[in-house]
Amino acid sequence: MTARPAPLDRARILVTNDDGIGAPGLKVLARIARRLSRDVWVVAPEIEQSAASHSLTVRTPLRVHRHAPRRFAVSGTPTDCVLVAVGQILADRAPDLVLSGINHGGNLAEDINHSGTVAAAMQATVMGIPGIALSQIVQPDRPPKWATAEHFAPVIIRKLAAAPWRRDVVINVNFPDRVHGAVTGIEVVRQGRRRQRERVTEAFDPFGRPYYWIGSPRKEGSARGNSDIEATARGAVSVTPLDLDLTARAQARALARVFS
Ligand code: MN
Repeated sequence: MTARPAPLDRARILVTNDDGIGAPGLKVLARIARRLSRDVWVVAPEIEQSAASHSLTVRTPLRVHRHAPRRFAVSGTPTDCVLVAVGQILADRAPDLVLSGINHGGNLAEDINHSGTVAAAMQATVMGIPGIALSQIVQPDRPPKWATAEHFAPVIIRKLAAAPWRRDVVINVNFPDRVHGAVTGIEVVRQGRRRQRERVTEAFDPFGRPYYWIGSPRKEGSARGNSDIEATARGAVSVTPLDLDLTARAQARALARVFS
C-alpha cells in the first residue's frame, strides 16, 4: 500500500525536531515547509531531546505552550510532540506530512537507533502519515551549512511526495557538510555501519564522586560504498528509506527450521 501526501500546496505539514523549539535547524525547516504549503504547524520539544530515540512520556503530564500561532512547545520527547500534535493540536485535521529536523548533525548508520529526529518521523509513519527525517552533517565546532539543507530539501520533499512510497517506510535524509554548489548529487543508499563502540568517559565531580559521559568523536567515513556514511563522505545528499518492520527475514527462515 502506498501513502502519498496530498498535493503539497494543499498539504497540512507538521514540523518537529529533537533539538528543541529554539533550534536554528527547526526555523530552517519551518521556512522550507512554508515554501511548500501555507498550512504549516510547528510542534517541537521545549528542551533538547537529542538521542531520546523513540521514547514517550507516560508517567508525567505533558504541558503544551503556544509560542505563536501554529507554533507550540511540548514538555516531552519528539515522539510526544507528534502524538500531542496529531491527537490534540491538529485534532480537526491530521497532518498529511511530518518533517523532522533539520537536525544539527548527521543521523547516519547506528545513529538511527538513538535519533529523536528519526523517531519523530517514524512515529508519524506508525500513525499512517508519511514522515521524513532531515539532518545536516556538521564538523565539530564549525557552523552548520544550513543553506545546503535549505537548497536541497524542497527538491527532495517534492520528489518524495510524488513518488511511490510504501506506507510503513520512513525516509531518512542527510545533507553533507559542503556548500550546496559542491554537493555531488542526491543518492538513494542503505543504512551504513560504523562498528564503532561508544566511549564512556569517567571523570569526578567537585565532591570527588565519579560520573560518566557517553560519547565519542565520529570517525570519518570511507567515500566508497553504497551506504549513508559513504555517500555523504563523498559529498552527496543521502536518502535512505527505512522499514518499520525490523524482521530479519533470512534469519527467521533459518530459525523456523531450528524450531520446527
Ligand atoms: Mn538532535
